[in-house]
Amino acid sequence: MIKVGLVGYGTIGKRVADAVAMQKDMKLIGVTAHSYSFNTEVAKQKGYRIFAVGETDLKSNGIKPDGDINNMLEEADIIVDATPKDIGRDNIERLYRPKKIKAIVQGGEKHKTTSTSFVAQCNYNEALNKDYARIVSCNTTGLCRTLDAVNKRYGITSVHATMIRRGADPWDIYHGPINAIVPVLEMPSHHGPDVQTVLHNVEIFTTALSVPSTLMHLHTLTVDLKKKANMNDVVELFKNSTRIRVVRNAEHLRSTAEIMEFARDMGRLRGDMPEICVWEEAIGVISNTHNKLLYMQAVHQESDVVPENIDCIRAMTGFKDGEKSIQMTNKSFGIK
Ligand code: NAD
Repeated sequence: MIKVGLVGYGTIGKRVADAVAMQKDMKLIGVTAHSYSFNTEVAKQKGYRIFAVGETDLKSNGIKPDGDINNMLEEADIIVDATPKDIGRDNIERLYRPKKIKAIVQGGEKHKTTSTSFVAQCNYNEALNKDYARIVSCNTTGLCRTLDAVNKRYGITSVHATMIRRGADPWDIYHGPINAIVPVLEMPSHHGPDVQTVLHNVEIFTTALSVPSTLMHLHTLTVDLKKKANMNDVVELFKNSTRIRVVRNAEHLRSTAEIMEFARDMGRLRGDMPEICVWEEAIGVISNTHNKLLYMQAVHQESDVVPENIDCIRAMTGFKDGEKSIQMTNKSFGIK
C-alpha cells in the first residue's frame, strides 16, 4: 500500500483525497486543515484523519485534530500538495525536502519547482521514481491530452489555441468577471510554454481570455499537421484515446452547461467530468490541403487533473507500467 498524505484540502485536494481513498493500492493517511470550514466537517464525516497546519480554529469549532502536519509527514510515503500557488513550492523547501519525503505539487507552481511536469498519457515515465513532480494546470492537461493523440497519429507542425476560461470555480465568491470578457494581455499566454514542459517538441502559441461562467473552460484549436487527416479518422482517434470523450449535438451536449448536467446525471462524484470533451461537430479538416485540423474542447477545471495525481503517485513510487496505472485509475473513476 502506498501511504499518501494530502496537504491543502480545497477544490483539488478534496477530490484527490477521495480518489486516493478509492485506490486498492493506496492508503490515505489523512488531510490537513489550515482553518475550520465545511470542508473540514465533510472530511470528518468521511472518516479522514485531520492534521492541523499551524494555529487553527478547529478545536473551538468542535473538531479535535489527529495531530499536526508533521505527524502526517512522518507516516506518509508521499504527499500530494494542493495548496494555493507558491505555497507548494515553499512547502517542498520547508517541509518535504528536509524530511526526505516525496511530493507532488499542482499547476499553480512553476515547472522549475520540480523540473518534472506530468500528464499520465503523455509522459508517465518521466515521473518514475522522482522525488518531486508537478501536475500541470487544468488547461495545460486538456491541451496535452488531445494534442498528444494528434501528434502521435499525424505529427504536429504547429498549434494555435485560444483558451476561453471560466471566471471562477462555482463555490468562489471572490473572483470574476461577472459582467465582462477579459483578455489575457500577454502574448503568448503562459499555457503554450507550459504545454512544452510535457510535449517537449510541439510548437504551440496560445492566447486566453476569461468569461463570466463557472462551468468549464472551452478551448478552440487550429493544428497544422505533418500528415493529411480526414474528419472521420480524427473522430475515431479521439474516441479511442484515454480520458477524452467525444460529445455530440445529437445528445444535446451543445454547451459546457449541458456537459456538467450530464456528469451529474451519470452520478459522477461531485458531478465531475475528468475527461476532456471534444465536440464531434466542431472537428474540421480544411479540405483543400487536409493538413489543417480545427476542433473545440471543454475542460472541467475542478477534476481533469485528479486522475493525473493518482497516476503520478504510482509513477513516483516506482510502479513502472503507465498504461496499467491509467487503467486502474480510470476504472475507479468510471472512465471508459
Ligand atoms: P483552493 O483555494 O480551492 O484550495 C487550497 C486549500 O489549501 C484550501 O483548503 C486552503 O485552506 C489550504 N491551504 C492554504 N494554505 C495552506 C497551507 N499553508 N497549508 C495547508 N493548506 C493550506 O485551491 P485549488 O483551486 O484547489 O488550487 C490548488 C492548486 O491546484 C493550485 O496550484 C492551483 O493552481 C491548482 N489547480 C486549480 C484548479 C482549479 O480550477 N481550482 C485546477 C487545476 C489546478
